[in-house]
Amino acid sequence: MNTGKTILVVGSIAIDTLETPLGNRTNLLGGSASYFSISAGLVAPVKIVGVVGEDYPEENRQVFLSREINIENVRVSKGKTFRWGAKYSHDYSTRDTIFTELGVFESFSPEINNCDCYSPLVFLGNIQPDIQLCVADMMISPEYLVSDTMNLWIDLYPKRLENVIKKSDIFLINHEEAAQFSGVSDIASAAKLFLDMGPSVVVIKMGAEGSYLAQNNSAIFIPVYPIKKLLDPTGAGDSFAGGFMGYLSKTSSPNFSEAVIAGSAMASFCVEGFGVEALLSATPERLKHRIKIIETLVSKRTII
Ligand code: AMP
Repeated sequence: MNTGKTILVVGSIAIDTLETPLGNRTNLLGGSASYFSISAGLVAPVKIVGVVGEDYPEENRQVFLSREINIENVRVSKGKTFRWGAKYSHDYSTRDTIFTELGVFESFSPEINNCDCYSPLVFLGNIQPDIQLCVADMMISPEYLVSDTMNLWIDLYPKRLENVIKKSDIFLINHEEAAQFSGVSDIASAAKLFLDMGPSVVVIKMGAEGSYLAQNNSAIFIPVYPIKKLLDPTGAGDSFAGGFMGYLSKTSSPNFSEAVIAGSAMASFCVEGFGVEALLSATPERLKHRIKIIETLVSKRTII
C-alpha cells in the first residue's frame, strides 16, 4: 500500500483504438484518468472518479486493482464506455482523432463518497470542462487543484475551460494546445497569460523537447529522459501529470522543478509501449533511476 497524500482524479476511462507507424492496436485500456492513475499509483494512493459502461472489460478493472487504485467512485452506467480512436503521422509529429464516442460520459454527473471530498490533491484530467468544474466544486479545501485539457474542449468550450483554469493552482498543457487556447505561440508569453488567470504554477509540455515550468517570478526548461524507442505517445501527458502529482503526494514543501522531473521520468515509460503496457512494467526503482538521469541533464535557466 502506497503512503503519502491521497490524490483524487477525475477524467476519462476509455477503450482506445490506435494506429501508429509501428503498429495498430484495438480495445486498449485508455483514458486520461487511466493513464494518470496507473502512473501516480506507482508511488501514491489514488482514487478515480469516473464512469464506465456495462461493456467495460473485467480485466481492465483488475489492472486498477493490481495497482491498489481505489475505484469506489467509478460508476457503471447503462450504455457504452467512452471510446476513442486516433492515428499518428509517419513521424509521430501529428495525431488525428478518428472518432470520439462519449457514450456514458454524455450524461455523467460525478458522485464522490463524502470522505473523499477531503482528498488533499486533486487532478482534473482531460474531460469535458463542466465535469472538471463539478468535481472542483465538490472538493473541500484541497492543497493543490491541478488541471489539464485537450484541443477538443478548447474548440468547444473555451469559456468553461477558462473557469477551470481560474480555479486551478497548477495548470498543465501541451505547447500546441497552449498556443491554440492563448492565441500566442511564444511559450513564455502563453505561460504568462495562464499565470495571469490564477494558477501559481504553469507547465507547458513540448513532447520530446521537454517542458517549460513557469511560476510568478521564474521559469525553467526541463529536458526529457532519452528513451531508446518511441512506440506510442498516447497518454504521455496524463502520465506526466501522474508523476508530477506522485511527487506532490510525498512532500509538504514542493520544489516544482523536481515535480516536473518526476513527471518527465514517468512519461518516458508511457511512450515506450502501446497503451499502458510499458507503464505497468515501471517500478519505483526504475523511476528513481530515470529521475536521477534527468536531474543530471537539467541546465538551470531562470528567466524573470
Ligand atoms: P493524451 O495522449 O495525453 O492526449 O491522452 C490520450 C487519452 O485521452 C486516450 O487514452 C483517450 O482515451 C483520451 N481522450 C481522447 N479524447 C478525449 C476527450 N475528448 N476527452 C477525454 N479523454 C479523451
